[in-house]
Amino acid sequence: MMVKFISTLIALILSASGIFQGSSVLGDTKDRVITVPILLYHNISDTNSDDSRYTVTIDNFTDQMEQLRYWGYSTISVKQLVDHIKKGHSLPPRPVVITFDDGYLDVYTNAFPIMEKYGYTGTVYIVANRLKSDGFLHEGELETLLDHGWEVGSHGMTHTELTQNHALVRQEILQSRLDLEDALETRISSFAYPFGSVDWYVSNKVIDYGYQAGVSVGHILFHSSGTVDNLSRREVLGDADLEAFGDLLPWTNYYVPAPRRKYIPQ
Ligand SMILES: [Zn+2]
Repeated sequence: MMVKFISTLIALILSASGIFQGSSVLGDTKDRVITVPILLYHNISDTNSDDSRYTVTIDNFTDQMEQLRYWGYSTISVKQLVDHIKKGHSLPPRPVVITFDDGYLDVYTNAFPIMEKYGYTGTVYIVANRLKSDGFLHEGELETLLDHGWEVGSHGMTHTELTQNHALVRQEILQSRLDLEDALETRISSFAYPFGSVDWYVSNKVIDYGYQAGVSVGHILFHSSGTVDNLSRREVLGDADLEAFGDLLPWTNYYVPAPRRKYIPQ
């Protein structure tokens, strides 16, 4: 009775102090639930003749990054998110994951320099058989992004909708990872489902074929060990103004993270 009372008291003090916020049971990764918005972009470009939902203009993208900075967001990769969920690695305050699907060249020419200005990094999902195609990111650009802290993931071999093509999962999911790893000499640890289309069979294959995570499309902001094979991303649409952009995010008030304390007086 007394032991139970004391342990309850300790749990209450810990939770009130906020030390173990987001982790309801110490050391148990199953219960680590974290709120992190994962944003999804495709093109960042001023050549959007058909008002595509997939293209955000350079000005709008710049405003969005500036607004994220004002709100105190720090970017993390999908890998960092999964390492937090599975291993308890620490995250900065107000983390956000910025992802780009399909591997368009304008991610390098337009998004990358803007994000560099704000100290931000992204995760880019590459269709493996487009690695040498015009208008898409090639090895050289991807290596530069990797050198600047970006993550590269697979978006399949040919951008095939896998729920309709279970027979192709080995080629699309496994072979695309092996090809990208060969080309870039880096570990590819997450997979973006083409068209955001995923079912139980496909998400299981992503884990079976050696990935740590799969990302899809949806609205959920909190993630746990039970969702790493199907992490929900919120799409930033081409016509989104700053208000609509803010609606995608959990924290939208001015915030400056406290600087790290370098000197502690004795
Ligand atoms: Zn795609």
